[in-house]
Amino acid sequence: MKLFDVYPLFDIEPVRGEGVYVWDKNGTKYLDLYGGHAVISIGHSHPHFVARINRQLNQLAFYSNSIINPLQSELAALLGEISGLNDYQLFLCNSGAEANENALKLASFVTGRKKIISFRNGFHGRTSLAVAVTDNPKIQAPVNKTDDAIILPLNDIEVLEKAFAKNEISSVILEGIQGIGGINMPDQEFVDTIVALCKKHGALFIADAVQCGYGRSGKFFSHDYFGVKADIYTMAKGMGNGFPVAGIAIAPHIEPKYGMLGTTYGGNHLACAAAIAVLEVMKGESLIENAAEKEAVFRNALEGVEGLKEVRGRGLMLGLEFEFPIKELRLNLLNQQNIFTGSATDPNVMRLLPPLTIGLKEIETFKQALNQTLTNMA
Ligand code: PLP
Repeated sequence: MKLFDVYPLFDIEPVRGEGVYVWDKNGTKYLDLYGGHAVISIGHSHPHFVARINRQLNQLAFYSNSIINPLQSELAALLGEISGLNDYQLFLCNSGAEANENALKLASFVTGRKKIISFRNGFHGRTSLAVAVTDNPKIQAPVNKTDDAIILPLNDIEVLEKAFAKNEISSVILEGIQGIGGINMPDQEFVDTIVALCKKHGALFIADAVQCGYGRSGKFFSHDYFGVKADIYTMAKGMGNGFPVAGIAIAPHIEPKYGMLGTTYGGNHLACAAAIAVLEVMKGESLIENAAEKEAVFRNALEGVEGLKEVRGRGLMLGLEFEFPIKELRLNLLNQQNIFTGSATDPNVMRLLPPLTIGLKEIETFKQALNQTLTNMA
């Protein structure tokens, strides 16, 4: 059997990781400013994470969700404490798309309505509803196309108000910082309007924090920067530091009923052990604080870089918009300087999504490598 070809591949085969670095099969060391697509939060193969998973694996890897699993409650308590959502309810699943799918479905159960508002350049995953509200027709199969998904321009209050006029909206889903779309930020007034309109019309506000959550922005959820509370938060990526685990945090006013949500693997013992270890390290090593502090260091380091138009984002979720497409620059950084960076659907934007453990030394290395590469390319 051969592989179903879904991504263009770089000719690199990483075999080992430690902290902010990975090594390929030839022993070459790479600086990882991509975090395996915003997934690596506490650093590659963190010893506490490895030990906790191994311990759980030796004890019990899995049993069904029809039994008591105290690891789920332990994870919920820790997550509630660190995120500030102590009074929310946690549903555990396996991926970002699944988290959004369940959040959108739950909102429809609760409101009895079908229409969902999402935004241009947003990305919410590839399952049926998640992809329907994602602004990219290329990844939607005919079965995903529905009039119930209303994709509006970001930060256009007038258009948003009009969309609410008929009182048909079930939910509004918004990334606190758009990731794949190019690190675009909603305005304060726009977010306040979403919250107010949802409240007025009985719709639910869903914060997609799959990429911009879990401490990456320098706050637990990047939505926290707006001083608002969502009815549902979705999370994945950094939650498991590479172990597939995801969740949705559901506001206390939403009452669960049997049949609304369910999953075989979600919240299994091994996944919970991984997610608990991530939060323990995040707390113990003050990684959210580190993410907030390092934003300024990155911004300073990037000052005066040739051809760099703008640096967007918060914490360790940064978008570098250049005056030119960055494809060649990214390839040169990888092949000549051994540095992984991320792209975006906007061809001029480079995304930096490093592990939250990154230090001053690595940022300095990146600064020098970037300047050197740009000089070589001039
Ligand atoms: N939501 C956002 C904001 C994402 O960036 C992604 C993935 O990149 C998803 C949802 C989907 O997550 P997953 O690939 O784990 O299904």
